[in-house]
Amino acid sequence: MRPALALCLLLTMMTPTTIARDTDAPDVTATSRATTPVPPPPSWLSDLDALYDTDLRAVGLDDRTFNAEHWWSVATPLLDKHHGFRIDEIGRSVEDRPLRHVRWGTGKTSVLLWSQMHGDESTASMALADLFRFLGEHADHPLVKQLHANTTLHIFPIVNPDGAARFQRRNAQGIDLNRDARMLATPEARTLKALFDQVKPTYGFNLHDQRVGYRAGNSDRGTAIALLSPPYNHAADVNDVRTRAIEVAGVIRTALEPYLAGHIARWDEEFDPRAFGDLTTQWGASTVLIEAGGIEGDVQKQRLRKLYFLGLVAALDSIATGKHAGVSPALYRDLPENGDVWPDLALRGGTLSVPGHPPTRADLLVNFRNPLTETGGAIADVGDLGTKKARRTIDARGLFIVPIAGHAGERTVIEANDDNDEDAGSPMPLTPGASARFVLSRDPQGRDVVWTLDGDVDPATPSPPVR
Ligand SMILES: [Zn+2]
Repeated sequence: MRPALALCLLLTMMTPTTIARDTDAPDVTATSRATTPVPPPPSWLSDLDALYDTDLRAVGLDDRTFNAEHWWSVATPLLDKHHGFRIDEIGRSVEDRPLRHVRWGTGKTSVLLWSQMHGDESTASMALADLFRFLGEHADHPLVKQLHANTTLHIFPIVNPDGAARFQRRNAQGIDLNRDARMLATPEARTLKALFDQVKPTYGFNLHDQRVGYRAGNSDRGTAIALLSPPYNHAADVNDVRTRAIEVAGVIRTALEPYLAGHIARWDEEFDPRAFGDLTTQWGASTVLIEAGGIEGDVQKQRLRKLYFLGLVAALDSIATGKHAGVSPALYRDLPENGDVWPDLALRGGTLSVPGHPPTRADLLVNFRNPLTETGGAIADVGDLGTKKARRTIDARGLFIVPIAGHAGERTVIEANDDNDEDAGSPMPLTPGASARFVLSRDPQGRDVVWTLDGDVDPATPSPPVR
């Protein structure tokens, strides 16, 4: 039996563990029960963790929806040439935003890190700003000295600044840059490929965020970090290039296990000849994909940003020292794959009251454009959804779900004989894809309202009062 399969069976036999709200303590109840014991984390980890909040976190990135101009305004002061940094403009985006390459270090091992090729995936860019602060302001730190002597880091932050300007995945032309590694139709992808060809990295880091709803394997636990050694062919063969990547992924897991046991997963190894990580592996760089998922309660991914930083430092240190050599591939292989994607919010037990239709017993599922802040909600499904799990559940028993219309602040309940102006809208059934705008009411007409969802959850009243 393949180890991964054995682990899946083991996980299904385990009692599901409820995901606790974010705490500083490791989630000891959610230990991953991997078949291979995870070694203790690096000895420097707790000191670096302690240093982080006061001396390493780059200031000014508290809201993760920043644009590239803002990010550079935070990062550029950290990139002093007296601290060994060099910044070069290496291209321009479709909308003429600068694409920049940051270089640091004097060592012979070339490492290329690129972030935010998907414009709404900003966690790594925050962690890279923290890394710049660490490298620049702590030149005497043993980890920094080692890195400086043995590696040359090439960093391409925010590959997709036009996407970041809109906080959207794709570039200004609507193209997914991580499906453009083969055709190189976009200036952003061409710039990344040209940088790769120029610096000929031995190691690559392909830095992303993934959907918050992903579960770790068959468990109920959300994936906080997912790792992948991207394959270079359809057979997902393992050569020396991938062996090194798998070792480095194991190092990252080892560093993060004390914080995220049970919440670290692995992407599936299906080869995509258009994806950068797959091709950089094919081109000879030991590439690790790191995906930031989510930690419940960490709405701006600030805690995850710190862990991302610590994981990156562990990976880079293992490259600078060569310590990843011989790390058991089981540390990577034993990770559960990314499993189901849970919807963000379920309302269970309510009665749908759409004007013109008879009241109907129905559950409701809502997905948010930003699941952690619960903003930009859209209906995902309606009906008997008792078998569907969700990240959060609201008990709507005894309540009516009544759609609303109009602008925020002057909302009206939609009525069957609605003769208001266009803004009030025609009756808007809560069908999949529709904006999630409704009240929970004690009466079918929506007059005695106990809770409102107007696209965004109001943080002051995230749930109806307990009745
Ligand atoms: Zn991505």
